Amino acid sequence: MLPTTSGTSMFGTVLVANRGEIALRVIRTLRRLGVRSVAVYSDADAGAAHVRAADTAVRLPSGYLAVEEVIAAARRSGAQAIHPGYGFLAENTAFARRCAEEGVVFVGPPAAAVEAMGDKIRAKAAVAAAGVPVVPGGAEPHDDLLEAALRVGFPVLVKPSAGGGGKGMLVARTAGELPGAIESARRTAAAAFGDATLLIERYIAGPRHIEIQVLADAHGNVIHLGERECSLQRRHQKIIEEAPSPLLDEETRRRMGEDAVRAARAVGYVGAGTVEFIVAGDEPGHPAYFIEMNTRLQVEHPVTEMVTGLDLVELQLRVAAGEPLPLAQPDVRANGHAVEARVYAEDPARDFLPTGGRVLALEEPDDHPHVRVDSGLTPGMAVGSDYDPMLSKVIAWAPDRALALRRLDAALGATTVLGVPTNVAFLRALLADPDVTAGRLSTGLIDQRLGALLAAAQGPGGPVPGEVPAAAALVLHDELARRAGDDPWAVPDGWRVGEAAWTTWRLTVRGETIDVRVRGLPAAGCEVAAGDAPAVPARLDRSGGEARVTLDGVTTRYACALDGGTVWLGRDGASWALTPHRPGERGAGAGAGAAGDGVVRSPMPGTVLLVKVVPGERVAEGQPLLVVEAMKMEHTVAAPAAGIVAELAARAGQPVDMDAVLAVVRPEPDGEGPAQAGPDAEGGA
Ligand code: ADP
Repeated sequence: MLPTTSGTSMFGTVLVANRGEIALRVIRTLRRLGVRSVAVYSDADAGAAHVRAADTAVRLPSGYLAVEEVIAAARRSGAQAIHPGYGFLAENTAFARRCAEEGVVFVGPPAAAVEAMGDKIRAKAAVAAAGVPVVPGGAEPHDDLLEAALRVGFPVLVKPSAGGGGKGMLVARTAGELPGAIESARRTAAAAFGDATLLIERYIAGPRHIEIQVLADAHGNVIHLGERECSLQRRHQKIIEEAPSPLLDEETRRRMGEDAVRAARAVGYVGAGTVEFIVAGDEPGHPAYFIEMNTRLQVEHPVTEMVTGLDLVELQLRVAAGEPLPLAQPDVRANGHAVEARVYAEDPARDFLPTGGRVLALEEPDDHPHVRVDSGLTPGMAVGSDYDPMLSKVIAWAPDRALALRRLDAALGATTVLGVPTNVAFLRALLADPDVTAGRLSTGLIDQRLGALLAAAQGPGGPVPGEVPAAAALVLHDELARRAGDDPWAVPDGWRVGEAAWTTWRLTVRGETIDVRVRGLPAAGCEVAAGDAPAVPARLDRSGGEARVTLDGVTTRYACALDGGTVWLGRDGASWALTPHRPGERGAGAGAGAAGDGVVRSPMPGTVLLVKVVPGERVAEGQPLLVVEAMKMEHTVAAPAAGIVAELAARAGQPVDMDAVLAVVRPEPDGEGPAQAGPDAEGGA
């Protein structure tokens, strides 16, 4: 642990100008230090976990980017300092200046350092002047980009100088491709950053992203806390990060650490920051080039905390309070290996597009040794498109890399978010990739292997293993039996054990439709047959948000939630939403030609509630024939065409399968029925 100080300089109250997992993480440290915490929240976040975790909370009518509202919140709550987290106002120098004007401490670097590093061209010039290697290239307005590209050799990367988040970056493989890439990057840069200035860099082959955590105080001390490797990225966004890097040897590590400290000194840095390098994984000696510095706490900072045993937020606060760093470079010791995975509300199979929904059930790993979960999730919360789709981070530590990866995988397997599709199964597939386990990483790995990773993410049973629809049908069947309660006629005879009739559930899941037959009561033991598979003995034990499903003697535990008629099941980090066919809907192939042949079928498994006609009765098209009920939903079954009720196969109180024949309506003999009486009827009198 860190040497303690007198503590007199530490703040009494700190406002956290952020939301989600990072707000909660900062509040945790504030609590540990005995500092009062103030949360701020947008209207969408009024019920969020960070609001409840803080000692005080102040509403921001215009949201987290509203500089004056955050300043006013600090004034009203008596906060002496503001921690901005990452994103939002973290690198907003106008905000940092407003804090200074108001006499509130901004927990971050001086505005001048943020500005110097906020622009890639200026940043590269500043650190290169301090002797830090930068990627060979050229920058506007001094260089002609084509000349510079010819000098450093193709392929080259065109980047917006004001860029971030990988936006507008384009590779040009040949001189012919360069003008098009420049034009397109310039358009994006102007639109996204309001600054069209570009730079070009040699495109590093087999690139690995390795960054150094630095820490500087206001007394001239600058140290580094070692590296993090963040080469596993999709669309230039990190998803798995680890410390230390499996690539670096001690000599390279030392050299990069010294370069990072020099880069921080070059801009008068104070606080916690990250110096990012691109490392030529394929070149001998793995030269490391500075690419940019992030002047804030990073999403992936926990891996550094787990290997160094330091609390970076505590160190940020101490530095902001004017204390000298409580440790020197030789005091920094790395122990073991830590790996972080970012859980996103996104669909890897649909180009990682964000998903959303309401969190119907939530399970996060607890009881996993050396696993840390930084999460902003709560059951019932809505995940929408207002904010970044990152939901949580799962971080595992172990003495060695192999065990850290296994622990992380197990922890992800214990992560279930029902109601909001996530990337958890994809993350697990990625952790199992042979190159990932061997530490052969590169920023292109995910793109190169996307197909195989997506297939692996589905698991051996494919997108919908057969036992999943079987489990869902058991849950629906059980739910139906429970809701029927002790209403004597509503409990279908067929469900008494021993004299059971088959009920068919037609379920749609991930675009597939599958019929599952169930016979008997799931809670007491029954039989189930999914698709063409033979029937097997089954049993369901359901309590709270979990369903234990036994199929043919093998029990599987699922997280389970019902949302309307849809059953959500989750296990091993994967989740499925299974929707039974609703009244009035027909699955593919169900009751084909129902209206044409006059056969009237049940739209769902249920109970006949009412029969409104008698055999031989004349009916008009659309006239109600019967009412079928399931799960308290009533559905009126109507005549598909005008005619005579030729057969009536149902009586009130009778259980019926989906698609069971209820009645047959036959057209009346020529000239007698209303259907044939129209003016266009060929056989008219
Ligand atoms: P941004 O600020 O938009 O995030 P960066 O300069 O940090 O842009 O680059 C983002 C990512 O792009 C890096 O993590 C790396 O994967 C890749 N990258 C950046 N520069 C190069 C380069 N010269 N050669 C190859 N890949 C690069």
